[in-house]
Amino acid sequence: MDVAFGTSGIRGVVNEAITAELALKIGRAIVKKKGSKILVARDTRESGVMLEKALASGVISSGGSVIRAGIMPTPTTAIATKERANNGVMITASHNPPEYNGFKFFDENGKEISSEEEKEMERKIKSEKFISSNWDEIGEIYKIKDAIERHMEIATGLVDCRPIARKKPKVIVDCGNGTASLIAPYVMRDLGCKIVGVNCEPTGIFSRSLEPNAETLSDFSSLVKAMNGDIGIAYDGDGDRAIILDENGELLGLDQQLSLMCKSILEEKRKATIVSTIEASLAVRETIEKKGGKLLITRVGSRNVAEVIKYKNAVFGGEPCGEYIFPEEVLAADGILASLKFIELFCKKGKLSRLKKEIKSYPIERAKFKCANKYESMEKIKEAIKISFKGEINEEDGIRVDFDDGWLLVRASGTEPAIRLTAEHKNRVKLKAIYDKAAKIIEECIA
Ligand code: MG
Repeated sequence: MDVAFGTSGIRGVVNEAITAELALKIGRAIVKKKGSKILVARDTRESGVMLEKALASGVISSGGSVIRAGIMPTPTTAIATKERANNGVMITASHNPPEYNGFKFFDENGKEISSEEEKEMERKIKSEKFISSNWDEIGEIYKIKDAIERHMEIATGLVDCRPIARKKPKVIVDCGNGTASLIAPYVMRDLGCKIVGVNCEPTGIFSRSLEPNAETLSDFSSLVKAMNGDIGIAYDGDGDRAIILDENGELLGLDQQLSLMCKSILEEKRKATIVSTIEASLAVRETIEKKGGKLLITRVGSRNVAEVIKYKNAVFGGEPCGEYIFPEEVLAADGILASLKFIELFCKKGKLSRLKKEIKSYPIERAKFKCANKYESMEKIKEAIKISFKGEINEEDGIRVDFDDGWLLVRASGTEPAIRLTAEHKNRVKLKAIYDKAAKIIEECIA
């Protein structure tokens, strides 16, 4: 059985790569000793039911117990695992299309398991060396119902609620029919926000693409403006990612949004260390350094960000895609807490359109190229990039070339069959030249 971990656990098309048999084996592999408590939760995808049941069956057959949490966001799973289990499994494919599903694994601290632990699990699944229990030692399945309330309690404890209660902002929320539907509108209402919710039915029938971006949120953007919202918030399928829109319905933009969060954090925690990835914009670095903070860069993926936060004692970690980790809560990205922090920011400092203008930004281009054999193609692309561009080369995660005043990154997506291209330059004309040249190389190499 082929099991491949990407940047974010295992992901694939249901009943092709992601089957009930695989779920069963994962359930068996995750039990390290009899009596282990495994928290199992899922997103709103309909295929989650099949995978949840197969996985639970695997856990109990190996003598572990299942804490069945039902449908909830990924950060809620991380928190609940930290509070009451030995391991957690989130059945989700995050922002991928509906035919996908997958598994994300958490350790007892609510942090995604390390790549060594993933390899160990892969080995166990392939060799089928599982713990087996006697007929009278089969584990139990317990249901819990308060994990979402607990998440709400912890998250609201980490924001300054008073300015929100005073200002009562009008928040337009788009949960994309994903798991955020079960928590975001409620926690905001409890804080005093006036809520207009769309796609807040956790049906697993998705009204829009689960990847929140300018294109997929164009209707939402008009709605935020038409409803006179103070702020618009859209989530991905599993609620670890939040995209913020200003009162004009305009997206803050991935880099400005992240920069704004970094700035706001460093205003409270001066000279602190912040973690981001190799995809982060020059704007993020400049914002952090201007505030006296220190930026550490790691490979793409919230697990990598979480690890650097842990070992370098950083106060915050954020990826440009909108996944932000607040370690005082849990070492996993939480779109819910991130959105509350932006609501707090609006209530304290005013219109987000104005705050966004205070962030210096540079022309940046991001593109995704569909590609079935992404790793093979990457080898060709790397060679071609090295020949075609002059700059400082870094191959830690895909290929990155740094120029004076700009950079270029090409990497295989960790979550879908695609190659991602990011390019940024202080000069728009130079950016276009870099981008066009790189895009041509990619297209030729994947053809
Ligand atoms: Mg996600």
